[in-house]
Amino acid sequence: MMRFDIMTLFPDLVGTVLGESIIGRAQKSGAICVRTHNIRDYSEDKHRRVDDTPYGGGKGMLMMAPPIYNCYTAILEEQAREEFSPKARRVIYLSPTGKVFTQTRAAELARDYDNLILLCGHYEGVDRRIVDEIVDEEISIGDFVLTGGEIPACILTDCVARLVDGVLSDAECYEKESISSGLLEYPQYTRPYEFHGVKVPDVLISGHHANIDRWREEQALEMTERLRPDLLAEQEMDE
Ligand code: SAM
Repeated sequence: MMRFDIMTLFPDLVGTVLGESIIGRAQKSGAICVRTHNIRDYSEDKHRRVDDTPYGGGKGMLMMAPPIYNCYTAILEEQAREEFSPKARRVIYLSPTGKVFTQTRAAELARDYDNLILLCGHYEGVDRRIVDEIVDEEISIGDFVLTGGEIPACILTDCVARLVDGVLSDAECYEKESISSGLLEYPQYTRPYEFHGVKVPDVLISGHHANIDRWREEQALEMTERLRPDLLAEQEMDE
């Protein structure tokens, strides 16, 4: 079982996103466990403050180290109380300063760890000392800046969780997909047979599986060449 602990100022946001559909069902079935932890509950301030102005000046507020550290140690204590002792734990700070997330990194995280503790920043980010003390890795979900780490944490959790055994019904669901396979996925069709005058390609209703496989391979190559030629450069190809 893979456990995700998400440290955030907005646990409801994360809980709602990850409580639905496949990831929600995976939690109910016990394939994964997702816990959200409200950093504000660990503030040492009577007004429950979690942020302050940055030393040296500058715009915006920075999340203080103590509430995050207290939240982190409370997670470890909770895990111990629940007799959850992970074989391998990784603490990740979602940050635009991190290495950009990829499907390959998601697969490594799913394979190598059974506990991911995710730190979501907000405002101008977090006091550097907390990153240096507790964080193993910084991950960015792309070269752009969001207001908080909650959406990035949901993206990472969703992407890693669907690779965990028992979350999807069949590994084929993701092995043949865009990016995972190294190419973009071939176009797919379902009923109705004809939509706005366009029919489903004949080969898909031929029942000839070898031809269907061949057609899908060609389509995947054509789509990749047209939309993401950079992916093709990384592929070794036979005729
Ligand atoms: N001042 C920070 C900087 O320049 O690196 C940006 C802070 S950002 C406004 C607030 C928080 O959103 C960050 O602490 C981080 O947790 C999250 N965040 C924003 N963009 C992100 C991205 N591309 N990937 C992951 N997390 C991101």
